[in-house]
Amino acid sequence: MKTLKKRKWCRLLPALTIFCSLPVMATQDWWQTEAERAAGDDLVPLYHKYCKTGERQFQPELPANAFYVFDNLIFLGYERWNSWALLNNEQIIIFDAMETEKEARKYIIDGLVSLGLEPSKISHVVIMHGHGDHFGGAALLQRLFNAEVMASEADWQLMDVTRTLKERYPDQEHVIIDGVRIKVPVAGQTVPEKNRVISDGSSLYTIAGDILFYLTPGHTAGTLSAILPVTDSNKTYLAGFFGGTGFTAPGTPLDVFLSSLNRFKSLTADKEVVVPLSNHPTSDLTGLRAKQLSGRKKNGPHPFLLGQEGYQRFLSVFSSCLSSYINKE
Ligand SMILES: [Zn+2]
Repeated sequence: MKTLKKRKWCRLLPALTIFCSLPVMATQDWWQTEAERAAGDDLVPLYHKYCKTGERQFQPELPANAFYVFDNLIFLGYERWNSWALLNNEQIIIFDAMETEKEARKYIIDGLVSLGLEPSKISHVVIMHGHGDHFGGAALLQRLFNAEVMASEADWQLMDVTRTLKERYPDQEHVIIDGVRIKVPVAGQTVPEKNRVISDGSSLYTIAGDILFYLTPGHTAGTLSAILPVTDSNKTYLAGFFGGTGFTAPGTPLDVFLSSLNRFKSLTADKEVVVPLSNHPTSDLTGLRAKQLSGRKKNGPHPFLLGQEGYQRFLSVFSSCLSSYINKE
C-alpha cells in the first residue's frame, strides 16, 4: 500500500534521475487528496464518511416507505441499515436482515406488503457479514417463511460465537475476543440456524442473471461481497455490493481489508459493474439517490447508474480513505 508518488520538482530537474527514481512513501494527506479527487462532485459525502470519520455531510432523508430502485430491486431499510430485496420470478432474495426481529417485521415484511408483494415468497436471506445489525431479523424470516439463510463459513462461526455473548456479557455492547471486537446481541436479535455456506466464487441463479459471491474479509473474517443483476426498462445492469464498510474497530486487519477492496475493484471493473450498493445508506448514498429517483423523468437518467468510471471512483474513495487511515501517524 506504500504507493509511489512522483516528486513534483523531478519533472523540472530530470538530471537528478537516480534520486528521482527513489520511491516516496504516500502519506495520510496524500491518500486523502486522492480520495477527494476520486469523489469528484458527486461522491463528496462518501469522502466525508470514510476520510473524515465522525464528520457527517448532509444527506437527504430516506423515504418513509419501501420503494423500487430497479424493476427487480427494492429498498427496505431506514437511516441505519439497508436491506435489499431482489425479485426473482416467484422468489424474493433478501440481502441483510436488519438488527432485530421487530425491525425485520416492520421494514422487510411490512415493506414488501406495502408494495403488494407476498413476504412468504422470501426464499433466501443472504447475510453479507455476521454482525448482529445485519443478521438480527434473519431467524424470523427463517421461522415464518422457511427462508434459506446463507453466509460464509467464517461468519457462520462468528454468529455462533455471538450466540452466547448476551448471557456472558449482559451489560456490554461489545467484547474483544482474540483481539477482534464483536457486538453483543441486542434484545430481540436471534442468531439464525445454519442453512447454507456461501464460498468464494459461488453463485445463485436469478432470471436476470447469476448473483456472484466473493469472500472479501476485513470488516469480518467472512465478509461477503456480491455482483448482482438489476433491470431497468428491460435492460440489465450489474450492481456491486461490497459487504462490510467500517474499518476503525479494534482488531480490524487493515491490510487484508484493503486487498479485499482492491480485489473487488478489479472484479467489478472486469465485469463492467455500474451500480453501487451497500448495507448502510450512508455508504451508497441511498437517500440522495432516492430523492433524485423520485424526480426522475420518464426515460431520464437513472441516479443509481454511475457508469463504470463512476463505480470505480466509488470504490476508490473508500480504498484511498482506508489507505489514508493505514498511513496515519
Ligand atoms: Zn459490521
